[in-house]
Amino acid sequence: MRLRGILVFAVLMLLGAWPARAQVPVPVVASFSILGDFVRNVGGERVAVTTLVGANSDVHVYTPSPADAKKISDAKLLIINGLGLEGWLPRLVQSSGGKAAVVTATAGITPRRLGSEADPHAWQSADNARIYVGNIRDGLIAADPAGADAYRTNASAYLAKLDALDREVQGAVARIPEGRRKVISTHDAFGYFAAATGIAFIAPQGVSTESEPSARDIAAIITQIKAAKIPAVFLENITDPRLMRRIAAETGASIGGTLYSDSLTAENGDAPTYIDLVRHNIKALTSALAN
Ligand code: ZN
Repeated sequence: MRLRGILVFAVLMLLGAWPARAQVPVPVVASFSILGDFVRNVGGERVAVTTLVGANSDVHVYTPSPADAKKISDAKLLIINGLGLEGWLPRLVQSSGGKAAVVTATAGITPRRLGSEADPHAWQSADNARIYVGNIRDGLIAADPAGADAYRTNASAYLAKLDALDREVQGAVARIPEGRRKVISTHDAFGYFAAATGIAFIAPQGVSTESEPSARDIAAIITQIKAAKIPAVFLENITDPRLMRRIAAETGASIGGTLYSDSLTAENGDAPTYIDLVRHNIKALTSALAN
């Protein structure tokens, strides 16, 4: 019996049919859900991705848990957005004692500025999303050189999908009459999207959801909505909808639905991937504005 086993093994070796030893997936941590999706697309089966801030959660005001420190200490690579988005992260990285290489996905992007602050929501434009993907690809290659070809192939395929998505977005925006390309969103998360599409966004909350708008801010926005005849107000999946419902009621603007700004939804939601997120947002915007 033993001899037969050895013979079978030898024959399989000769035929080249012996399965290659499976590659152990590279442990990668992404700070929030949108980055996690980019990493999954570029890393494919060579990586095991975990995200710290999950679906429908707010990355601006996250409170890390001891489990997050463990994830980082086990990771080979940590992918972050940067531009001040993850204010809670440096301390977590320090306390984790891990040795993961850190990739800043926004490296090379020229940030929009709001006063002294950089606007961290760079993923909301197609040009920037391409830069994110390139940085993630290069970070994965540096961490796992044996996968270089796979990462390059995956990144090119995904970039082609992002190009097609961008054409969809530009086509949809072109169908919105110019005078109606203006909306209200809860926090200032769509500056890059606005610059890329020409749709103007006004937000009662600043670039971070940490700040609450004052009564005076809200009054100013209500005046602005009435004066500019802004047709629609949008909710977000990460913020309390009550403020926007009140603004809609006081101005007569319609509620145009929900825009996904800083977080994907769960698998069964409207935006489980970045591509779904952009598609959902553009559909919500065109159905509220293009008539
Ligand atoms: Zn935000």
